[in-house]
Amino acid sequence: MNMEEKKCLAAVLYGPEDMRIEQVDVPSIGPNDALIQMKACALCGSDLSGYLGKHGRVVYPRILGHEFSGVIAKLGQKVTGFSEGQRVCCDPDIRCGTCDLCRQGRGNLCVTLKTQGFDIDGAYSEYVKVHQDNLYPIPDNTSFEDTSLVQTLGVAYSAVKRRGEVLFNDYLLIIGCGPIGLSSLLFAKAAGAYVIITDTVGYRLEMAKELGADEVINAENADIVESVLRLTQGKGVDKVIEAVGGQQDVTLRQCTQAVKRGGLVVLVGTFAGNKATLRATEFKDRELEMRGSRAYIGWYAFPEIIQLIASGKINVSRMITHRLKLAEAEKGLKLMQDKQEKVMKVVISP
Ligand SMILES: [Zn+2]
Ligand SMILES: [Zn+2]
Repeated sequence: MNMEEKKCLAAVLYGPEDMRIEQVDVPSIGPNDALIQMKACALCGSDLSGYLGKHGRVVYPRILGHEFSGVIAKLGQKVTGFSEGQRVCCDPDIRCGTCDLCRQGRGNLCVTLKTQGFDIDGAYSEYVKVHQDNLYPIPDNTSFEDTSLVQTLGVAYSAVKRRGEVLFNDYLLIIGCGPIGLSSLLFAKAAGAYVIITDTVGYRLEMAKELGADEVINAENADIVESVLRLTQGKGVDKVIEAVGGQQDVTLRQCTQAVKRGGLVVLVGTFAGNKATLRATEFKDRELEMRGSRAYIGWYAFPEIIQLIASGKINVSRMITHRLKLAEAEKGLKLMQDKQEKVMKVVISP
């Protein structure tokens, strides 16, 4: 069967809020690529930005989808180490591999980094083309749905482990119970930290409690800084992970005030419009440290996260609140937009 002459179902975004389910050509693959039959693709807040016309890198028409796993349907002639029929999870980030940052092992900062699902077509499709370097085998005891979350988890893993260097005796404050905040919670608990987590949405805090948070604080009816100081005998937490961002800077102030003297703040939230302000004097006088955390490094994050899922050390299934069909992708995005039905992660399958 020559797959390349065949058609497959995809959700094609033609413009803001204009997504159409149609038959498209099955992608043709190069010698170092694999054709992946998508089995599960998780929807992301950044997909919603693309859908609403607010994602700077999406040019229409575009097939979204950057969090996915599936089965190898076909291999390019030069691919080695993989076989057709194999179950894999895919890294959507395409790094050049030759710039200084790639060579230094910091491919997440690659100057020409592209992401499948934004810069090129992604996995809201029955079939998707993936370079062999971006394939990670998944064990039989893991589900496609759980492993479709590895990419999101990678962002949190990077914030917690690589940038936050979270340790077993750390007091950690996580601001935000979205998918990145909750994923950060999973890793921080697996690392043995004491985790205080905040949000303004009740059901998200409930989920955080179920996922092992030591303390949850609803920012709607409690003062975050006061609460954290009370829980830490007035000292503040060792580290903070900011996972909210957006058009506000309240959470930035919470970071600098709730962290202890000499503490570390990791920014993983995206502050849209770059209008958020910081109290610079607090950084100087309290000798704070702030680190940005961008995306993840594929080879550093994917294998370990897949292991953590396979060994049951992190419970990612609990974050999947909705399972829909590929043809219902738009419905999933709208659920996320309106935060309906206690939505956390939506996963689509063919
Ligand atoms: Zn994402
Ligand atoms: Zn590079």
